[in-house]
Amino acid sequence: MLVNLTDVFTNEGQVQEQTVSYDADMFTSQSGTFSIKESSPVALRLSNIGQSKALVQGTAKLTFALACDRCLQDVDYTFDLSFDTVVISPDYTGEDAAEEAASELMEGYHLNVDELIKNELLLNWPMKILCREDCKGICKSCGKNLNDGECGCDDFVPDPRMAAIKDLFDANKEV
Ligand SMILES: [Zn+2]
Ligand SMILES: [Zn+2]
Repeated sequence: MLVNLTDVFTNEGQVQEQTVSYDADMFTSQSGTFSIKESSPVALRLSNIGQSKALVQGTAKLTFALACDRCLQDVDYTFDLSFDTVVISPDYTGEDAAEEAASELMEGYHLNVDELIKNELLLNWPMKILCREDCKGICKSCGKNLNDGECGCDDFVPDPRMAAIKDLFDANKEV
């Protein structure tokens, strides 16, 4: 979704409020492709803060179905985004042009809202996703989701390196 900022860039003191839809149902990043279950429209407040310069503020809410890191069950994860960024038009001639240019967000005089949301999602992406704080994960032997109850497997899972040392030890003992 592109939003035309021409009026904001050229009219001193101008403030515009707009709501734009965010329709993507997938989000792809370096760590994979994730499905978006629900997304609110993006509420934007666009303010002129100088010739060819605008402040973009806004909020958006997106709910993803993400897999729990331990048990792999889908978990609803909601991002409550709130952002605040400065953009400049291609006409901007200020000395700080290089550092001001959040240029990946602009296509000419248009703000690329999809790109903006994508950046915010990356910034806010969780380090860890758990269905609950004390998720027990899945059994390494039988694959049962241990949140649903014990599976009865011997829960001692030998470390392969330790097993190798033990084999060596046993072999020596036999000699
Ligand atoms: Zn879990
Ligand atoms: Zn098991």
